[in-house]
Amino acid sequence: MAVEVQQRALVTGGAGFLGSFLCERLIEDGRDVVCVDNFFTGRKRNIAHLMSNPNFEVLRHDVTIPLYLEVDEIYNLACPASPVHYQYDPVSTTKTSVHGAINMLGLAKRTKARIFQASTSEVYGDPLVHPQREDYWGHVNPIGPRSCYDEGKRCAETLFFDYWRQFQLKIKVARIFNTYGPRMRPDDGRVVSNFIVQALMGQPITIYGDGTQTRSFCYVDDLIDGFIAMMHSPADMTGPINIGNPNEFKIGELAELVIELTNSRSEIVHKALPVNDPKQRQPDISLAKDALNWEPKVKLREGLVKTIAYFDGFLREKGAIGEDSAANLTSKRDERVS
Ligand code: NAD
Ligand code: UDP
Ligand code: UDP
Repeated sequence: MAVEVQQRALVTGGAGFLGSFLCERLIEDGRDVVCVDNFFTGRKRNIAHLMSNPNFEVLRHDVTIPLYLEVDEIYNLACPASPVHYQYDPVSTTKTSVHGAINMLGLAKRTKARIFQASTSEVYGDPLVHPQREDYWGHVNPIGPRSCYDEGKRCAETLFFDYWRQFQLKIKVARIFNTYGPRMRPDDGRVVSNFIVQALMGQPITIYGDGTQTRSFCYVDDLIDGFIAMMHSPADMTGPINIGNPNEFKIGELAELVIELTNSRSEIVHKALPVNDPKQRQPDISLAKDALNWEPKVKLREGLVKTIAYFDGFLREKGAIGEDSAANLTSKRDERVS
């Protein structure tokens, strides 16, 4: 009788925002999942609901240190993603991207595992080509405050492709564009979570610069579908491949939409634009559509409603908002309407 061997997936950064959704999805798909995280930005609460699952285990470990495990597939997500967090200890950010990639590639080489890299639209820097296609080499400042992240991720891509050319590793490199959803930290610092938390708490909404800079926001569920499709694509599909939602919005428009959806009384204030803040960003996802038959389905408005509900519950649980919160006003308004 043939014994079916359960596939083991390693998710680095598995206690983070994206990683926790990925762990959940892989367990649903029948994988044995090992989550590795140093809890720099990740939280136990993101994976608490998985802890009692016999197909899930957590290792507190830093990917800059070698790791010996037997695995069939590796999703390398470990790295702080918010500019506030990756600039907190920039040297450590580069080490995480570069040493982390070397260790995970070494692990993939020894175990012959497929390995997925969570790369980023930041490899395009402040792009001069719009929308961004995978064959664009980018416009990146190598010595600025964002460089630890941008160049760290670029070097990680280089390592992935050199391990592929030199050792024939089965690599999958995805360039992720701005993604949002539940389980982002309230102090994450990225724009969607900032605006929602500010709106719910009745605090000023902080637009950096004049708000005309653009981003294209993808809801987390769509992104995870893209990860899985990429990992299971044919071996010659190495990427890099853009995974994101091509619907582009001005940051000022996002602020207005969040205010509308939370029915918040928050005012908008303008703060200084961070150094090297990209002016525009929109993925060309033709390759993902053709090669993976993947495209995002969730509209911004729909994804924001789900994300607002998460933060409303979170802030309420923490006692940060009460009966008169903006979200509460929204639900009262909805009751009146319905
Ligand atoms: P996140 O900060 O929530 O998650 C990152 C996780 O990695 C955290 O759990 C953190 O504790 C862990 N980590 C950081 N350094 C580590 C180390 N040295 N060893 C072990 N664990 C470490 O961010 P996220 O949004 O979930 O991003 C996940 C990945 O996706 C990152 O690699 C990020 O660069 C990439 N990405 C995300 C986005 C996005 O919009 N969310 C966009 C582009 C790329
Ligand atoms: N490595 C690891 N786990 C493994 C195999 C390797 O963490 O299962 C690390 C190893 O410590 C090394 C890195 O991955 O520093 C790169 O491995 P590779 O085999 O490419 O390089 P080498 O060991 O020859 O320097
Ligand atoms: N931003 C903003 N207010 C905030 C946080 C961010 O206006 O409270 C802007 C930021 O300057 C950038 C955009 O929103 O132009 C997206 O920022 P984020 O940090 O989410 O991600 P990035 O794409 O810059 O890595």
